[in-house]
Order: sequence, then structure tokens, then C-alpha cells
Amino acid sequence: MTNFSKSTDCPTSLTLVAFQNGDIPVANSGDIRRHLTECEFCVAEVEFYERYPQTAEDVLEKIEAAEIPEPLFQLAEALIGKKRDLRSLDKLRNEIDRASEIGN
Ligand SMILES: [Zn+2]
Repeated sequence: MTNFSKSTDCPTSLTLVAFQNGDIPVANSGDIRRHLTECEFCVAEVEFYERYPQTAEDVLEKIEAAEIPEPLFQLAEALIGKKRDLRSLDKLRNEIDRASEIGN
């Protein structure tokens, strides 16, 4: 009975996506193909990517969302917050412009 989870021998999700997308040359994919003969979990993962095609960027985003270190997360939140402030600043400026147009 194989353990139905990723082990330390498992290729990363990124590698599996690249393999599924054909981005890894056949000459270099021997290890992955061998791994897939003995790991049900990675077979399931590759089958998932086959059914729901993902780009490496998609996977990276998910990895980052799940494993982003706390300081980076706070930085990202701060940046998003700043962006939001800039947007509301723009909105405010538009409203002021509109108000001054009416005034003219
Ligand atoms: Zn595996």
C-alpha cells in the first residue's frame, strides 16, 4: 500500500506541471516518469493537471499564496493597501474634477 501523499522523493508541483505541459524534454523526464510508476499521488496530480490545465504561473501563484512567509505577506498586504489608497485618491480627484466642471 503506497502512502497517498507527497514524499520528499516527489517532484515539485511546478515540475509536474512542466512535465504535463511538455516543457521538460523527454531526455530529461526519465526520473519523473519512473517516479510516476511508483507514486500514486503524483500520478493523481499529473492527471489533475491534464484535466484542468495549469500554467507554471498558476501553480507558482498557488504555492506563493499557500506558503508565503509572514513578512512577505505583510509587505504584499501593505502594497495592496497602498494600491487601494491610490485608487480611492484617483476617484477623489475625479470627483473634484467633475465638481469643478459643474462649477464652470
Ligand atoms: Zn510522488
